[in-house]
Amino acid sequence: MNDRVRNIVIVGGGTAGWLTAGLLGARHKDRGPNGLSITLIESPDVPTVGVGEGTWPTIRKTLARIGLSETNFLVKCGASFKQGSRFDRWVTGSDEDSYLHPFELPVSQNGTDMLRAWQKFAPEKSFAQALCVQSAPGLQNLAPRQRSMPDFVGALNYAYHLDAVKLAEMLRTHVVETLGIIHISDHVTDINGPKDGDIKSVTTRENGDIEGDLFIDCTGHRSLMLGQHYGVDFIDQSHVLFNDRALVTQVPVDETDAIRSETISTAHEAGWIWDIGLTCRRGVGCVYASKYMSDERAEEVLRDYINDKELPVRLLKFQSGHRTHFWHQNCLAIGLSAGFLEPLEASAIVLVELSAEMLAENMPVSRQTMSVEARKFNEIFKYRWARIIEFLKLHYVLSQRTEPYWVDNRKSETIPQRLQDNLDVWTYRPPSQYDFEQNSEVFPASSYQFIVYGMGMKPAIHPTLEPRIQAAIQQQMQNVVKKQRAFAAGLPTNRALLAGLQKQSTQRKSA
Ligand SMILES: Cc1cc2nc3c(=O)[nH]c(=O)nc-3n(C[C@H](O)[C@H](O)[C@H](O)COP(=O)(O)OP(=O)(O)OC[C@H]3O[C@@H](n4cnc5c(N)ncnc54)[C@H](O)[C@@H]3O)c2cc1C
Repeated sequence: MNDRVRNIVIVGGGTAGWLTAGLLGARHKDRGPNGLSITLIESPDVPTVGVGEGTWPTIRKTLARIGLSETNFLVKCGASFKQGSRFDRWVTGSDEDSYLHPFELPVSQNGTDMLRAWQKFAPEKSFAQALCVQSAPGLQNLAPRQRSMPDFVGALNYAYHLDAVKLAEMLRTHVVETLGIIHISDHVTDINGPKDGDIKSVTTRENGDIEGDLFIDCTGHRSLMLGQHYGVDFIDQSHVLFNDRALVTQVPVDETDAIRSETISTAHEAGWIWDIGLTCRRGVGCVYASKYMSDERAEEVLRDYINDKELPVRLLKFQSGHRTHFWHQNCLAIGLSAGFLEPLEASAIVLVELSAEMLAENMPVSRQTMSVEARKFNEIFKYRWARIIEFLKLHYVLSQRTEPYWVDNRKSETIPQRLQDNLDVWTYRPPSQYDFEQNSEVFPASSYQFIVYGMGMKPAIHPTLEPRIQAAIQQQMQNVVKKQRAFAAGLPTNRALLAGLQKQSTQRKSA
C-alpha cells in the first residue's frame, strides 16, 4: 500500500496540540517502519491562549491514557478538583439566586417519577439537592476522593481546575520523552499544496519543509490550514451566543484558603464572571457582549467582584462559532482552529479530547480510507457543536433578568428551533435520553435536567406515584441524604488533600 498514512504533522502547541499528540502517541506507540511518526511544530513567536482552566470529567481518562500520574499532574499544574458548576444570579439576579450543575447523575433513571417524587417528598429542596449525592451544602470545599484511592478514581465524579499553561508544558515534556513525539520549535510560514487537493508539506523558518500524510491544525484562532489555506467557512453563532469578550485576571490566594470544588459562574448585567480556585490563585474572568457592555464597564464589574483596583487584567476577544466542517482533504482541525463557543460550561477542552480520541481510534490506514473517516468525523462533530450551542443558550433562555442583554437573549429569533421544540415538550416531561442521539453526548439529558429545574422550570405533571414506585424512590431519596452526610463527614477538604500530595511529591524528590 503506497498511500499509507504514516507521517502525522501537528501544527500548534497549545492545549489542543499537546493533548492530541499525547492521545495519538499513546494509542499508536509503534514508531518503527510500520508505525506512525508524529511531529508537533509550535511557533516560538505565537503565544498560546493560556486560559482554559475548567474541564469536564473526560479529562481523567484522557490524562490516564496519555500516561500521566494524577499526583504529578495535580502538583505541577497547580490543579484542584472540580465537581461541577454553580450558577449565581442567573435567574432573577437576587442574592439568593443560586443553583448547581453537579457531575454526578440524579438518583433515578425514570425522569417523570423522579420529578413526581421530588415534588411530593422534598419540594423545599432544589432539584439537585433532593436527587443528587453531589449537592449537599457541606460538599463545596471537599475533594471527591480520599488520598488512599488509586489515581483518577473518586468517590464522586470529578474533573479539574488547572493552569492551562502548565498543563501544556507538562504534556510537552511527557509526550516527547515517553511517547516518542518529535518536537520542532519553529514558525510555519507556508502551507504547500493545491487549495483543492492535499497538503504536501509545511514550510518552517529554520527547519525547511516538513512533509506529512495527515496534518492536524491546532493553530488556535488563526486556523492556519483549515481556515486560511483551505478557506473553509466559519459559521458565526454570535446571534445566538452574544458574548465576545473576556477580561481575565489572577487573584493570589493564601495557602490556607479553602478551594472551591465548583466553577462559580456569576451572572451580571451583560454576561457572567467565572471564578476558578487553583492551589495558589483564583482565575477570574468577566465574560461579556461588547454590544451591551463597554470594556470600561466590564473592568468595573470585574474589579467590584474581586474587590481590587490594582491587579493586572488582560482582554481577550473571541467570536462564538465554528467551521462548516473540520476535516478537509488531509487536514483535520482540532481546538480553537475548529471553532470556539463562549467559555460557559467549559466545552472546549472536552471537544479537543473527543476529537483526538476519535482520530486515534479511527486512524485512517490509507489515503483512500481517509475520506470515509473524514465524512464520519464531520457528521459527528457537526452534531456535537450544534448540541453544545443549544445547551449553552439554555442557560440564557430561562433567565428572568430584565436588563436588555437578558431580554434580547430570550427573543425567539435568537433561540435555535430544536432547543425551542425541546423546551416546549419539557414543559410536560423531563429532558430524556431520547432527546439526544449520540451514545457519548457531551452534555447528557441529566445536564439539561439540572439546568432547567435549577432555573425554576416547573413541569406540568400529575404528582401521583404508583405505590410500589413511590416506596422505591422514597428509599432512593433517603439514601441520597445518607450519602450526602457520609461524604460531608468522610471526605478531606480540597486544600488538605492537595497540600498532602504536594508534601508527598516534595519528599519523594528530596529522598
Ligand atoms: C476567555 C476564554 C476562556 C476559556 N475557558 C475555557 C475553559 O474554562 N475550559 C475549556 O475547556 N476551554 C476554555 N477555553 C478554550 C481553551 O482555552 C482552548 O480551547 C484551548 O486552550 C485550546 O487552544 P488551542 O490549543 O486550540 O489554541 P492556542 O492555545 O491558541 O494554541 C495555538 C498554537 O498554535 C501555534 N501556532 C500558531 N501559528 C503558528 C505558526 N504559524 N507556526 C507554528 N505554530 C503556530 C501557537 O504557537 C500555539 O502553540 C477558553 C477560551 C477563552 C478565549
